[in-house]
Amino acid sequence: MDKLFVPRELIAEILAHCKECYPYEACGILAGQFGVSKKIYKIKNIEKSSVSYMMEPGEQFTVMKEMREQGLEMTAIYHSHPVSSAYPSPKDVSLAFYQDSVYVIVSLVNDEPLIKAFEIKDDIIKEIEIIYS
Ligand SMILES: [Zn+2]
Repeated sequence: MDKLFVPRELIAEILAHCKECYPYEACGILAGQFGVSKKIYKIKNIEKSSVSYMMEPGEQFTVMKEMREQGLEMTAIYHSHPVSSAYPSPKDVSLAFYQDSVYVIVSLVNDEPLIKAFEIKDDIIKEIEIIYS
């Protein structure tokens, strides 16, 4: 996938979630069909950290199950960077287990949040264009 299609309402929900969790990182999953995101799942960051996240495993499991039942695919995994730029950290790269997923990172460093999307495969980071629909 070389582009990520996300409706503006979902971006607004993601931004709200990221601001809500500040100063900690927020995390969650974008789900959709045919590459178009349709809903977001906010997931608890059990690390309560400003520089890393770990999705609460039980919640993540429930979300994955619901997605399967609804015929949705994981279009992206999002998380925020409250104190750093919108670029994958070394830890993000080493923990990028979902090679087919897109990683969305929201930086809250500046007044205006910056949202970027990346593909992380075999330690190689490639920026993906976000198309707002
Ligand atoms: Zn990160």
